[in-house]
Amino acid sequence: MNSTPPRVSLAIPVYNEEAVVPELLRRTTAVLDGLPGGPHEIVLANDGSSDKTLEMLEEAARKDDRLVVVDLSRNFGHQIALTAALDHVSGDVAVLMDGDLQDPPEAVPKLLDAYKQGYDVVYVRRMNRKESWWLRACYYLFYRLLAVLSSTQLPLDSGDFGLMSRRVIEEMRRMPEHHRYLRGLRTWVGFRQVGIPIERSARAGGEPKYSPVKLLMLAFDGIFAFSIVPLRAAAILGVLAIALSILYSLYALYAKFWLGSPQGFTAVILVMTFLSGMNLFFMGIIGEYVGRVYEETKGRPHYVVSRVIKQNNAVQHL
Ligand code: UDP
Ligand code: MG
Repeated sequence: MNSTPPRVSLAIPVYNEEAVVPELLRRTTAVLDGLPGGPHEIVLANDGSSDKTLEMLEEAARKDDRLVVVDLSRNFGHQIALTAALDHVSGDVAVLMDGDLQDPPEAVPKLLDAYKQGYDVVYVRRMNRKESWWLRACYYLFYRLLAVLSSTQLPLDSGDFGLMSRRVIEEMRRMPEHHRYLRGLRTWVGFRQVGIPIERSARAGGEPKYSPVKLLMLAFDGIFAFSIVPLRAAAILGVLAIALSILYSLYALYAKFWLGSPQGFTAVILVMTFLSGMNLFFMGIIGEYVGRVYEETKGRPHYVVSRVIKQNNAVQHL
């Protein structure tokens, strides 16, 4: 391995985080101060915040030339904001982390230790989440369900928090997909990857920006982007339904000719409602995939940058 210390870029998305920004900047810059080598940088993607987040970042960037603020034209969502930050990093390694300090920046030296041992990706396994029990249960089940469904071996309980080497950054940038499940894409890239356990803190302040619905959407992105098992399930259940219907038809014929009496009104209703429900359900599943194909064919850029703010007030208009 190269013995010069790598230049580190932190990539952080922020959306209405005015309650956390001062603490975030204080802790991340303190971590960078403690790292050998440099120059290091902090790339913050402002995801269309409507509070004072941008002003605060802008002011900080004027005083500290390690800060780069990528101001997006509107709210694009966490994964896209993270993508925007990653697209603007210039270091030898990038560390992706949330802006609410749930991912402790003090873990960066630990990630770098693993990188120095020759790993291209060092992801963080989340121990002891601080969320409510039902959310923790959902996370737990989701990661396990996805691991079963996915064709890529996705690590359990690992979020986006983690380090990636320059060549992984380059590969991530080549990925055109719009529904981005970054932690999955990162695994897909390959090379040497390792997970290290780190405790996930509670939010340092403010409210979570992910609503339960948005979380569910992210979960769907994970499943639909990394598995076609739901499509296969339609075929498998279809075959089962055909087999059952043959059996039942035989019984119905027997009942008609040997038992004589009109039979099976209830059964007809049951079978009809059940099968039409299944039909609609799987049409919806197929629709999800088709919709995603449609989204991709439009080929729109992932995000729009309003401006990049860096280095002593030098504002770069795009
Ligand atoms: N975030 C963002 N855009 C959004 C939602 C969230 O950039 O539309 C940022 C947010 O500011 C935070 C990170 O993404 O830095 C994670 O968001 P949050 O803490 O709400 O997610 P959770 O920890 O609940 O999964
Ligand atoms: Mg959070």
